[in-house]
Amino acid sequence: MVCIIYSDRFLDHDNGRSHPERPERLTAIVDALKHAPWANYLEWQQPTPVADRDVLPWIEKLHRPDYIERVRQLALEGGGLLNMDTPVSPQSYDVALLAVSAWLDGIDRVLDAHSPAFVLARPPGHHAENHSGMGFCLFSNAAIAAYYALTQESINRVAILDWDVHHGNGSQYLTESNPNIAYCSLHQSPCYPGTGASSETGQYNNVLNLPMNPGSTFADYQPAFEQQVVPFLKEFNPDLLIVSAGYDATQADPLAGISLHPSDYKAFVEYIHPVCDRLLFGLEGGYHLQALAQAVVATIGACMVF
Ligand SMILES: [Zn+2]
Repeated sequence: MVCIIYSDRFLDHDNGRSHPERPERLTAIVDALKHAPWANYLEWQQPTPVADRDVLPWIEKLHRPDYIERVRQLALEGGGLLNMDTPVSPQSYDVALLAVSAWLDGIDRVLDAHSPAFVLARPPGHHAENHSGMGFCLFSNAAIAAYYALTQESINRVAILDWDVHHGNGSQYLTESNPNIAYCSLHQSPCYPGTGASSETGQYNNVLNLPMNPGSTFADYQPAFEQQVVPFLKEFNPDLLIVSAGYDATQADPLAGISLHPSDYKAFVEYIHPVCDRLLFGLEGGYHLQALAQAVVATIGACMVF
């Protein structure tokens, strides 16, 4: 059984026509999951409404109040651009709060049910920094979820594995000074946002960045997982593993140049599950609808045997 935390409300964050981070990403995934051979083994859960869970204190732990207020005001005023690539629509603030709530629900669910969960939410989060949104991201969902997890009984160490094709600058900066959080990213280099050199190792050697050359395939990711990702995670020994699950490293993706096949994500799950069986996945990028949906199906399908 895998729990999918999803709401149609996540379709209401509107980046405007022709923006790659669009609501159809979620509807393509939902449709593919409902037609998967193991669809009956999915449990669909609505995120806790923001009125019933005060998510702001968790967001304020990592984001400056003036930045949060700026997003709220932009939405109230009918929307606008936070920066060149990151719009805010009238519903975006409320939807982004609900997305954070969904990620926190994901932590609760994984701890309660001892089975994996997948947060199917927008907007994504791994580029959002303390004082700014960027790269289609408003609030740093994965980092916020990691700090939330550390307040739960039995959780002393949390690792974030970020396999989105872009480096999660926000996730890294917001967690690297905490010795109880590890951050590991495989990302194309050179590529947006330009951060994530292998020399960035965190204050406690709790950061592992693995820049991948454009054109890399599974044959390049396989040794990276076997020789670096898995040993790094084993050494850190997390009580919970959060996967920043972006799917823009597929060959079909229009935003980057890595050549993974959607089915390769099955192998990634098989690498990490023996390291930590408390697994929370949360959607980041992925912009080719069919490849995105197939890759999510491969990820969740791999969890079905646990
Ligand atoms: Zn990305």
